[in-house]
Amino acid sequence: MRCRVFFVLVLTVLIGGGATGNQGAVPQPDWRTAEAELIAHFQELVRMDTTDPPGGERPAVDYLKKVLAAAGIESQEFALEANRPSLVARLKGNGRKRPLLLMGHTDTVNVDASKWTLPPFSAAREGGYIYGRGTVDDKDNVAASLMVMLMLKRLNVPLDRDVIFLAESGEEGATRVGIQFMTERHYDAIDAEFCLAEGGNGYRAAGNVRFMSVQTLEKIPYAIELVARGPAGHGSVPLEGNAVARVSMAVAAVAKWTPPVRLNETTSAYFKRLADISPPADAQRYRDVLDPKKISEVDAYFRRHEPRHASMLRTSVSPNIVQAGYRINVIPSEAIATLDVRALQDEDVPAFLETIRNVVDDPAVEVRFAQRDTRPPGAGARIDSEAFKTIEAAVRTHYNAPTLPTMSTGATDMAYLRGKGMQCYGVGPATDVEDGPKGFGAHSDQERILESELTRFLRFYWDAATTLARAR
Ligand SMILES: [Zn+2]
Repeated sequence: MRCRVFFVLVLTVLIGGGATGNQGAVPQPDWRTAEAELIAHFQELVRMDTTDPPGGERPAVDYLKKVLAAAGIESQEFALEANRPSLVARLKGNGRKRPLLLMGHTDTVNVDASKWTLPPFSAAREGGYIYGRGTVDDKDNVAASLMVMLMLKRLNVPLDRDVIFLAESGEEGATRVGIQFMTERHYDAIDAEFCLAEGGNGYRAAGNVRFMSVQTLEKIPYAIELVARGPAGHGSVPLEGNAVARVSMAVAAVAKWTPPVRLNETTSAYFKRLADISPPADAQRYRDVLDPKKISEVDAYFRRHEPRHASMLRTSVSPNIVQAGYRINVIPSEAIATLDVRALQDEDVPAFLETIRNVVDDPAVEVRFAQRDTRPPGAGARIDSEAFKTIEAAVRTHYNAPTLPTMSTGATDMAYLRGKGMQCYGVGPATDVEDGPKGFGAHSDQERILESELTRFLRFYWDAATTLARAR
């Protein structure tokens, strides 16, 4: 490690990058060395079992802390629970601009080891891939963020803004120990103008990156319950007002109903740019989304063939749990259905509940909010900001592809930061669209990443972060 650092420094002086290059191009490390180091740190992180629950992010934090310290970067732990710390490191800038935050989560979802051909914590390299839980969610962003910190420090790049690294715990199932704890109790440690985190990725088909999706907005999860009550009795004597029948009719009414369509800045830009790179028939459809006269026809097509796009057009409702009855010969007096509601950022949520009540149209069915791990609403990140333009330019350089601003239908930890007014952008390595159906992807039975895309992501990420933060 030591002679590698020395080599990088010598090379920097030779190519005139680093400390002296105030106006010129982004300083470049020795990429061969940097990529080998990225893979090594990445593999170390993937080999740690940080599945959540129970989490146990401690080994990852200890490792990151040690690597940062060896490069002369101090870091600080923040822990609500001793075994579940998050780690923050900061490189100081001259303060001309507000900080840039680089974020990744060290926990992963769980595994069913019997489903893995190569063991889930092996970080095995085979056929151009690295296998393991967390390889695309989210140890890729953690390792790339770590590398950017190390390279900025070693190349001694002068900065107009502080660059902060947050390796957060608890993203997958316990935000209270992670991002919630950080935003509510230690926000001053991570406060920044811009943030780069997970939530975007390169869309690669037949080996070519067609576009890079950058998450600028996300929907907010809520839960609504439909509670039907009726007379209990002996199952041999059917009763009118049977709670199971009532809740079933209420669910059917909601399922038949189509919530209204509404576009926003992000989704409008997304469909417009998607049209620009799609084959003619698809392109026409994506353009028609923006035409109020044609959108309902497109929406009908989306609901059948492209359900994710249909969800992007509206506050969506999916009935996902029904609880009723406990034995065959008893008519239960209560039946409950739970709706998974994913609201557009600007949804009037109490009014939406009232709408559901009208759709159900049954005074015997109570319609109410239920408990769920939600996220705070906040404005989306702007697509005319310095950060978005920088990301777009770096995508062009490294992927020769356009950037599509995207609204996630799911939720990420960026919502907490956006709730505080931070401009957050979700980015990630390119993945093959063919890989999902094969069972490899985030949260899938197996997970893997293309090594070549992990290293390309680092080059892109370095370019974007350094352009945003270095001194001019
Ligand atoms: Zn994740």
